[in-house]
Amino acid sequence: MHNLIELNKTDLEAFVAEDLREPRYRTEQIWQWLWQKRVRDVEAMTNLSRPLREKLASLATIAWPEIARVATSSDGTIKFLLRLHDGKLIETVLIPMADRYSQCLSTQVGCAMACTFCNTGKLGFERNLTYGEIMGQILVGRQYLEDQGMAPLKNLVFMGMGEPLLNLDTLIKVLTDLPCERGLSLSWRRSMVSTVGFPDKLKILGELEIALPAISLHAPTQELRARIMPKAAKVPLDELMRAIDAYPMRPRERITFEYLLLKDVNDSMEHADQLARLIDRKRGKINLIAYNATEDMPYEAPDPDRVEAFEKRLWDHGLTAFIRRSMGADIKAACGQLKADQARSETGDPLPEA
Ligand code: SAH
Repeated sequence: MHNLIELNKTDLEAFVAEDLREPRYRTEQIWQWLWQKRVRDVEAMTNLSRPLREKLASLATIAWPEIARVATSSDGTIKFLLRLHDGKLIETVLIPMADRYSQCLSTQVGCAMACTFCNTGKLGFERNLTYGEIMGQILVGRQYLEDQGMAPLKNLVFMGMGEPLLNLDTLIKVLTDLPCERGLSLSWRRSMVSTVGFPDKLKILGELEIALPAISLHAPTQELRARIMPKAAKVPLDELMRAIDAYPMRPRERITFEYLLLKDVNDSMEHADQLARLIDRKRGKINLIAYNATEDMPYEAPDPDRVEAFEKRLWDHGLTAFIRRSMGADIKAACGQLKADQARSETGDPLPEA
């Protein structure tokens, strides 16, 4: 039995030709039902003949990730805990923007990078997400927004659980299919792939021209980066910066650098000066993120004054820097927080169902 949302566009074409033995235009029809109209039952595909629907139903189902829990923050952030077919849990978050939503997607169950400040890192790596599990998060998010009569989903960030570049083959399939007009119609230019940065993999993405990266830098020197993200820092900082310099971009496009501010670790004026020396202001912009503190972690959130001073210092150096609002703190919206919370309560009370 196939799960139709596990087939990317090319796989679906092959399935239509070889398994259904139908002409090519059927691919477009089925694709549209799956991704634009978001049906969850083959029976709903009413422009297919009854015998064809029966044949399709005998070969395939449509199975979305299941919502295990929804939490809505006072700031409008909506966080989902999703249960996959094997019972594994992942998170996805809808983030309100002026007139639209942006969705933060997970790419792996857990993460192998073990960054010292990250909840997901602490959980360890379990497995890669499949094509349908990544795309399925978007189906769930869009359906929810539509059901609630809320603003549309227009932007994506691959900033949820996992390291997207370590699930590269699947990520490429997802990024390739996002813009399909009769499908999700989401532009990759309005999406951002957040990564600790692997030069060989950045090169592949750059050559395909299907992604804009955001680099989780978090430290301006190799020595400090190795302390707070030891596995990621196995790629030396100068090598990473060379790969970023070589990343193909349109004239006004910029690479985003994420810089997580950890109190008394990387938030001094000296760190800001070092950061400014590292980044070419014509090609890079900086997103400052105040650490979203969790219990059991050896870090604290920076003082708000410090965050602002850090931002100002970068501007003084001619850099473009923004403080990214930390959202959803009341619903544990930082990477892996909800799942970690879930793990802690697993032995306790049963989950409130969505
Ligand atoms: N592995 C990828 C994408 C997932 S993490 C990456 O590292 O970029 C997405 C972003 O959230 C990263 O910049 C990560 O460093 C940051 N992050 C992790 N834990 C956080 C926390 N507790 N508070 C704020 N940001 C956090």
